[in-house]
Amino acid sequence: MAQATTQYGIHQIPDMGFSNAYLVEADQQSLVLIDTGTPGKDAKVLAYLTSIGRKLSDISYIVLTHADADHSGSAAELRRLTGAKLAIGELDAPRISGEKKLKEASGFGGLLIGVFGAFTKVERVKPDMTLKDGETIGPLTIVYTPGHTDGSISVYKPNEAIFVGDLLRTDGSGNLKLAMASMSRDMAEVKRSVEKLSKLEFSMLLPGHGKPIEHDASKNLRDFVDNGFT
Ligand SMILES: [Zn+2]
Repeated sequence: MAQATTQYGIHQIPDMGFSNAYLVEADQQSLVLIDTGTPGKDAKVLAYLTSIGRKLSDISYIVLTHADADHSGSAAELRRLTGAKLAIGELDAPRISGEKKLKEASGFGGLLIGVFGAFTKVERVKPDMTLKDGETIGPLTIVYTPGHTDGSISVYKPNEAIFVGDLLRTDGSGNLKLAMASMSRDMAEVKRSVEKLSKLEFSMLLPGHGKPIEHDASKNLRDFVDNGFT
């Protein structure tokens, strides 16, 4: 996947495969990494940093939008390599630390996790910080947006961008879709969280899966909500 953009100091890390990870320039020196992909993706992060003349130790924070293995998979390794502080929403923290199961889902979602789990061994890691609604990391504000998981968060760069994790995704045509129901804990809560984000202003929306929306994204999201989440 090609790099999406460097608008607003936001970079999509290329070649991450199934799930997206982003870098945000927090100030002159430090970078914030949002999500880490599946296990073994640390080399992709390093390759991209090198290509823009940066190094692993420039990452001061790693923020996980939620605990799922396709977002937290390389967190332990990248925390070691960067020395960054690892942060995640309060209620997803026990899932990456190993105090709770990484994911619980029933039906088809549970089956998928079972199959996925057989192929991936996610190293458990204790986060350095747990995040609540309204907390800030540099220029970024945490918005608590549960539903896909109990502790899912979005990361807001006011008036510029929102990183939504798996609360929303985009399809092949770039249209918004809700979190995948079979992989989510509570779809009514997903919808309430999407409504909460639709009150904010941003021009880019950066999902955990699918292409980012690069312009007029908050208007796009309001239309999506007004159309009954389609
Ligand atoms: Zn995901």
